[in-house]
Amino acid sequence: MDQTALASTVAACKALIDTRFPEGGENGAAAMLLKDGTILTGTAPDAFNPSVEVCHEIEPYCGAHRLDQHIVASVCLHRESGGRTVVLSPCGVCRERLAVHGPDVLVAVADREDSTTIVWKPLKHVLPDYWMTVFPDEMASGWTA
Ligand SMILES: [Zn+2]
Repeated sequence: MDQTALASTVAACKALIDTRFPEGGENGAAAMLLKDGTILTGTAPDAFNPSVEVCHEIEPYCGAHRLDQHIVASVCLHRESGGRTVVLSPCGVCRERLAVHGPDVLVAVADREDSTTIVWKPLKHVLPDYWMTVFPDEMASGWTA
């Protein structure tokens, strides 16, 4: 994987947090690297009823679909009120969404010793027993039990 492209994806995610929320405070964003090198970013709005809120990944995820592009990497970051930025691994629903892009999509997870440090892992490593692997004929290439 192109480390420069991954670093640019992380930088784009941080830049969105800083430009969209210049007042500081707790906010987050996500960024995805597409196969053609495009980096898409997004951040989720708050809602009166938290049960209708969506993940930061939704905007870049849907953007990749709009562009008919394969997602190769995804990162989600959360800036704490003190300014520290931690890495949020993709939630279970986002892992499910990313699965259609194959088992080798790189996802950013927090280092276990330092939650501000990214560890890139292939999706198959964060979904070791992915349920769809029992249907190999229906899986995106690369997903096998
Ligand atoms: Zn999610």
